[in-house]
Amino acid sequence: MTDVRSALTATDPEIAGLIASEEQRQADTIRLIASENYVSAAVLEATGTVLTNKYSEGYAGKRYYEGQQFIDPIEELAIARAKSLFGVDHANVQPYSGSPANLAVYLAFLSPGDTVLGMGLAMGGHLTHGHAVSATGKWFKAVHYGVRRDTGVVDFDEIRSLALEHRPKVIFCGGTAVPRTIDYASFATIAAEVGAVLVADIAHIAGLIAGGAHPSPVGHASVITTTTHKTLRGPRGAMILCDAEHAAAIDKAVFPGLQGGPHNHTTAAIAVALREAATDDFKAYAHAIVANSRALATELGSRGVDMVSGGSDNHLILIDLTNRDVPGKIAAKALDRAGIECNYNAVPFDTRKPFDPSGLRIGTAAVTSRGMGVDEMRQIGRWIDEVVTAAGKGDEESITKIGAEVRSVTSAFPAPGITVA
Ligand SMILES: *Cc1c(COP(=O)(O)O)cnc(C)c1O
Repeated sequence: MTDVRSALTATDPEIAGLIASEEQRQADTIRLIASENYVSAAVLEATGTVLTNKYSEGYAGKRYYEGQQFIDPIEELAIARAKSLFGVDHANVQPYSGSPANLAVYLAFLSPGDTVLGMGLAMGGHLTHGHAVSATGKWFKAVHYGVRRDTGVVDFDEIRSLALEHRPKVIFCGGTAVPRTIDYASFATIAAEVGAVLVADIAHIAGLIAGGAHPSPVGHASVITTTTHKTLRGPRGAMILCDAEHAAAIDKAVFPGLQGGPHNHTTAAIAVALREAATDDFKAYAHAIVANSRALATELGSRGVDMVSGGSDNHLILIDLTNRDVPGKIAAKALDRAGIECNYNAVPFDTRKPFDPSGLRIGTAAVTSRGMGVDEMRQIGRWIDEVVTAAGKGDEESITKIGAEVRSVTSAFPAPGITVA
């Protein structure tokens, strides 16, 4: 790796300098963006290899280019590890990222104009679950379910009546701002009743499922899509896992339906991440993520900070600042100045606009990768509360003071894959 880095510095000092600064920033900050993590040095190394030089359209044994002697076994290893880790019949590891993986599902099971049922974006769903600005909302008829105002969680009576009324061909469950466990069996019952394919989008929680810290959709959803870079702690990429009956349709949709050559450097890094995710250490990691999220939610709750659904069962907490006089964007920017990184986010039934909403989304996957535990979570909860209060009063001095405290903690918890102190 040193050679590559010195080559980069010699060829392009400007980019090399920016990468070095980003590495330092990732070392110095408390990273609470729920979709982010720190990959291991091994995963990082696999992504920066000569595999990026190779074209391999097709699948192992059926490629459109020669020279696949080493690419085929790499992709076969990634597939075998995905199947064994999640206990599924079939895995496609070629989707470039989570959004293209979901698009491949539409291509496999729907024609333009067909109906899809998914969670609304403002309620915690993803753009690719049929949001109006997404290709999935423009080319398909999208119907959306939400969460209940009183509980902050989905209402299966609502989902069932929407499914019976609109007869979707595909139902998506899962989302991008869902702080609670997903009841896959209840979704499966509704999908079976209307003859829909149930797709579980586990982009955020794949690592928790792999580590046994969240129930698995396997046996309930016949198709599962996931990114590989969130709690699963792999490179930026995606996978589609499915029952044998859908294998051919999924493979055809990914290639040649949607994509060209697979990103072999990413495939190799996915294989490495899946090997890591099959270890006892990773099981402990997945459970620690959830314990940390619960501890952080408890601390926030004790300080009167509102959370959608009142807490967290997974890695994610959705803070509702409606009662704090500080909108999400101002709070997120103040936290960033203190070295605590998160994102502003809409909360269900938000009275503010999507680019200036009332919520903050935080998650514990990255801080848990640094070995932080329940004590650090209590401290982070206190800092979040104090920074939001300071931001409301324009008290920049307190924010600066907390920033110094943050750096004294981050320096004590080295992050995987990061070479600077
Ligand atoms: C992150 C995410 C995606 C999309 O992943 P990208 O890699 O950003 O395209 C899809 N679905 C859900 C639920 C997600 O959280």
